[in-house]
Amino acid sequence: MLLLLAAGAASAQAPFLMGGVTAAPGTLAAGELRVPAGPGDQGTVIPFSVIHGTRPGPVLALVAGTHGVEYPPVLALQRLRTAIDPRTLTGTVVLVHMANMPSFLARTIYYGPKDGQNLNRVFPGKRDGTLSERIAFVLTSEVIDRATHVIDIHCGDGNEWLRPYSYWVVTSAPAVVAASKDLALAFGLDHVVIDTERPNDAAASVYLANTAMTRGKPALTAESGGWSRTDEESIARVERGVAGVLKHLGMRADGPPPVAHPVWLGRNEVMRSGFTGLLYPAVEPGQTVAQGTLIARVTDFHGRVLEEIRSPFAGEVLYVVATPPVTKGEPVGFVAERATAVPAVPAGPGRGAGVPR
Ligand SMILES: [Zn+2]
Repeated sequence: MLLLLAAGAASAQAPFLMGGVTAAPGTLAAGELRVPAGPGDQGTVIPFSVIHGTRPGPVLALVAGTHGVEYPPVLALQRLRTAIDPRTLTGTVVLVHMANMPSFLARTIYYGPKDGQNLNRVFPGKRDGTLSERIAFVLTSEVIDRATHVIDIHCGDGNEWLRPYSYWVVTSAPAVVAASKDLALAFGLDHVVIDTERPNDAAASVYLANTAMTRGKPALTAESGGWSRTDEESIARVERGVAGVLKHLGMRADGPPPVAHPVWLGRNEVMRSGFTGLLYPAVEPGQTVAQGTLIARVTDFHGRVLEEIRSPFAGEVLYVVATPPVTKGEPVGFVAERATAVPAVPAGPGRGAGVPR
């Protein structure tokens, strides 16, 4: 009896405090992180839920709405907040329901409405910076620094038509890179871009998921859906991905298996417009293209062709911009080539057996 009591005490979970609310073990709590006012704005809030399991374990942060017109991840998290049962959960799930409230409410693609900045380019943020930088600072200090694993869930932005894929960043510490690879496979998207260009500097981490990785935490950026849509398929794909990660991390007993035959994508390039005008896409996401295949045309406002944008190499189109407005320097599409080799990663504790390397 004493032994049983001791074992129970050893495996008990302490309450989880966030944003002024306390989640007791086995419960769901909800609150808002406050982003303080700055010059020219009133600040904002970041609504979150904490699903706090009964046993200690990983703290998995799921972030939606880093870009405000990316809806399936937002809607998936609305479902997950009640679909994940805290009474049977090991560890803790932090759901960030809306990372970028100003962008969501103003329906702005890419950039925040107050400062014209891309939230996913200003990490780790600044305490006294622009609104986007202050949002990033709160996400870094209140969410990422509290988590053990982070998934930033995106889709094609409001103008982007996209096939699902994830980014696996390989520039961090080897053990973090290895665990992040397993996270990507567990999430289940079968196309994975091997990202070799993210900075390995915690003070200039730029991207949300990279902020976690430069702080030693496995992380993933996932893309499912796009073009301002709220389709069931894209929402369900995110739910399935999270279920796979919960199983992989040992937070829940049941869940789908990791992707068995991932398509690793190496060389990749965002093609950009050299002109401002009207964009006419010529390909669809998922389409295989040759070097030189026409991706899109740009015309001026009197219909004259200014530019034909062609694929720089043979590969697969992961997204294409599919609405007419285009400004010089903005993306028009993203193409990636199958990797000839997948970077070697060290084996480590907690790596799933049978996971394809
Ligand atoms: Zn995005």
